[in-house]
Amino acid sequence: MRRFYRSEAPEILTVIKDGKPLWQVYGEEYAQKRLAKAKPLFKFQWPQVKGKTLNQHLLPDLKAMTDDHCSYCDGFPLKRGDDTIDHFHPKTNPAFYEEVCKWENLYIACKHCQEAKDDDFEEKLLRPDGADYQYNRYFVYDYIQHKILPNPLASFLERESAEKTIEILDLNHISLCISRRHSFQRHDKDDNPVLSDYDFRFMFE
Ligand SMILES: [Zn+2]
Repeated sequence: MRRFYRSEAPEILTVIKDGKPLWQVYGEEYAQKRLAKAKPLFKFQWPQVKGKTLNQHLLPDLKAMTDDHCSYCDGFPLKRGDDTIDHFHPKTNPAFYEEVCKWENLYIACKHCQEAKDDDFEEKLLRPDGADYQYNRYFVYDYIQHKILPNPLASFLERESAEKTIEILDLNHISLCISRRHSFQRHDKDDNPVLSDYDFRFMFE
């Protein structure tokens, strides 16, 4: 999981409606519908804004922050169906209904990470844009098995967070280890590697 820096929330979320930023209005509407306990349970749908769904407005800004890589595994390029938006705090958890359109809760994520994370949430899960987050602080890379491991020099709590993050995002799934090995070999033979063209960039930094 490579560090990225979050940009300011796009105007489409912060414009004021009825005295509140729009992201908050959408969150409250969603919470109300979910809590109405109608059957079947109301499922989240991105609101329509200016002729398209809100996620379509947000995707370019989310992708710009990660150079089109997955926020969690750093997979690249994102394939069709891969460029979905993950809710860090799951939208199915009543504690987080109101964050469903909150900028800081949204991450571009590949299919692997979306499916692995699903509705799981743990306070220990690391955010790639967390205030103190740095890949090297929490993780080390095993260049033989191509696994991501908790940094043995990190504090106990940091190692716990690293372990939980690896587990929840299934970052050492065999398919990711093989992809990282291929990427590493390709990079090794590349006379003039352009970092943003590679996936799993934390291996090369
Ligand atoms: Zn991913």
